[in-house]
Amino acid sequence: MINPLRGMKDLTFEDSARFVYIITTAIEISKRYGYEYIETPILEETALFRRSVGESSDIVGKEMYQFEDKGGNDVCMRPEGTAGVVRAFVSAKLDRQPSTQKFYYYGPMFRYERPQKGRLREFHQFGCESFGEASVYEDFTIISMIAQIFDALGIGYELQINSLGCENCMPPYKENLVAFLTDIKEALCEDCNRRIVTNPIRVLDCKNTNCQALLQDTPKLIENLCTECDSDFSKLKDLLNNANMSYEVDTNLVRGLDYYNKAAFEFVSNDIGAQSAIAGGGRYDKLVEYLDGRATPAVGFAMGVERMMELVQMPEPSRGGIYLGTMSPEAIDTLLPLAKSKRLREQVTVEYQAKKLKAHLKAADKIGAKVAAIIGEDEFANGTIWVKDLESKEEKTIPVEEF
Ligand SMILES: [Zn+2]
Ligand SMILES: [Zn+2]
Repeated sequence: MINPLRGMKDLTFEDSARFVYIITTAIEISKRYGYEYIETPILEETALFRRSVGESSDIVGKEMYQFEDKGGNDVCMRPEGTAGVVRAFVSAKLDRQPSTQKFYYYGPMFRYERPQKGRLREFHQFGCESFGEASVYEDFTIISMIAQIFDALGIGYELQINSLGCENCMPPYKENLVAFLTDIKEALCEDCNRRIVTNPIRVLDCKNTNCQALLQDTPKLIENLCTECDSDFSKLKDLLNNANMSYEVDTNLVRGLDYYNKAAFEFVSNDIGAQSAIAGGGRYDKLVEYLDGRATPAVGFAMGVERMMELVQMPEPSRGGIYLGTMSPEAIDTLLPLAKSKRLREQVTVEYQAKKLKAHLKAADKIGAKVAAIIGEDEFANGTIWVKDLESKEEKTIPVEEF
């Protein structure tokens, strides 16, 4: 027997129903905000992720599902969605169009790490990327959209926001931070020491409790923002306040790469053990340029479908569709044209074996059909069909053409 690879999973029945419900809800809502579907390849050049996700990130440093293909190309199964969408945006020269463009995507992502509970090697994300809009109103709108998706799915969350500044205010802040960190570096963990050199902003994000305590008094970027970043961040908070959306400013919420700027946000849940992020995103005004496109402001997010599957509240199942059966083998051929015409509008299940009425009704009930329509021997002789509404329990015998 061949099983799925380690850290990969099949989705069936209740799990796949949850998956489809989450994706269709997210698609429906993001369409209302003007997002259109984009499909990009799962396999990309490794260089794309090195450049966009960043060498110093754990994803690129340790977790890439990377290999050499038969042609000797260095390729990688996408570890996240934004890089591919931005690459596609530049490849299609959409950066030369004046209008804003908005895309949603969903699909599998891959990270080669030790599988454990809540961490698969193949997992799924739904995400959106909005290109061409520099206004903080767009940041607010995208945050509202995520909240709407979680509300529709019955998923509770807390919103955390931060500002990552810009090319004017981040570099001087980074210098201050490095000076501060260098003074306490003996006491910080190994990862932090490495990051002081490679990516000091990421030190703020260290999960080590000892480091967390030492990092309490680090200089805060939000206290050192330039005028524009400061006014954008204030505006974002005003917009959230006016919309009665509660949030927390988390100064340790960082992305740590130079093309992420201004708004960064995370939606976290406390309902799956330790607090964990169920969606995250922010502004990345420099990434399009970084991948050789024309400067284009952009903001986006991704949500983790597996985590949402643990939290989603599914609607009560309702009866639907038609169950078609017969009690005599000769009648079965008449079911197929009937099924074909009914399937233009409804879900139809056809039982090919002739059975007793009781067995048919039991089967119809089991699949949750709304209507059972059975051709017995008398009905077959008379050109009629017996129809029972399994909800209202009403029954009737009518000519087949009238069904
Ligand atoms: Zn700034
Ligand atoms: Zn640390």
